[in-house]
Amino acid sequence: MPPCGRERSIAELLRGTPRRGRCREPDPASGLGSPRCSLTEPGPGHSHWSYEDREHWGVGYPDCAGTMQSPINIDTAKTIFSPQLRPIQLSGYSLPASEKLKLRNNGHTVLLELPETLAITGGYAQQYRAVQLHLHWGSPSGPGSEHTVNGHRFAAEIHVVHYNTKYDSVTEAMVYPDGLAVLGAFLEVGPRENPYYQEILQHLHKIQTEGKEVLVPGFNIAGLLPANMKFYFHYNGSLTTPPCYQTVKWTVFNQTMQLSHSQMSTLVMNLRNDDGKPLQNNYRLVQDLHRRQVLASFQTTLLSPKQTPSGSDASEAAEGHSGSSFHAGDVLAVLFGVLFAVTALAFLLYIYKHRSQNTRMDSPTKSKVIYTAASTENTA
Ligand SMILES: [Zn+2]
Repeated sequence: MPPCGRERSIAELLRGTPRRGRCREPDPASGLGSPRCSLTEPGPGHSHWSYEDREHWGVGYPDCAGTMQSPINIDTAKTIFSPQLRPIQLSGYSLPASEKLKLRNNGHTVLLELPETLAITGGYAQQYRAVQLHLHWGSPSGPGSEHTVNGHRFAAEIHVVHYNTKYDSVTEAMVYPDGLAVLGAFLEVGPRENPYYQEILQHLHKIQTEGKEVLVPGFNIAGLLPANMKFYFHYNGSLTTPPCYQTVKWTVFNQTMQLSHSQMSTLVMNLRNDDGKPLQNNYRLVQDLHRRQVLASFQTTLLSPKQTPSGSDASEAAEGHSGSSFHAGDVLAVLFGVLFAVTALAFLLYIYKHRSQNTRMDSPTKSKVIYTAASTENTA
């Protein structure tokens, strides 16, 4: 497949504005030269790549064959604890219902445009402005997150795309190594409906075909991300769709988000791609780490190999999040619990023994005598 440009500017692509056009030479506005011709991760529009063809993206988009690609498998045993990684802080994420946002099916994903007033103000060395968010999912028969943790693939994944405020626009930012920041979180099936995701999912039936869009009322966008923003993984990677630019500083949260079974079905079953086929399995396979390191903002060494950062505990879900990361505090709590139990048992045994000795005496008076005698002895 030859490199294929489109009759639209990179800025339009970044916003995900759909516009069909004939193939032509790569857009000079990108300043990137052939064959970087479409941008789909920060704002996927209809373009000529497909997930069925994902093994061959490197042919038309050379960066896709690079050595800093995303997604990756996060091997928690090999992550490096970095105490300098501070909690991610967001500002402006709570939007009033009066602010309408564009929600679009672009043939590759469902994409929600975000106002630039949303920003990451902590956790990164620089400030980043939001551009859009979108989701990756599987099919009724399998999960579809892009990143995996210890080989485990989650049901789905959310990506919130931002660009560095030191650049004038996302178009400019996206070609620099520190240009983009994407916040990623895993979605799992839990016991109850997630009201934040419902703000998106309830509109999917209106945008079933590729290119359709709908205006949705603003809501608290931060509710789509984990409550715990202290625990995350961090690494340098790329857009996970062509043109796969290697300019993304990734944050993948340890805590997962939960959607009801019905909500997950709505996500997986509602949309269609440009061929009119069900839009499913819109995830890229994990890429080689090469020489990269994955940092962790927390100590993962107590995670056993089979543990994942997921959790489905009902009480945790009640708080709107979940996570099974196992920490030193938990170990201490268990130790103290065991100590308490042993002490209590020893005390009960002592009481029991003492009482049974007393009951061996035929009458309480006798025991009284013994008691008196003992006290006499003591005073002597
Ligand atoms: Zn994505």
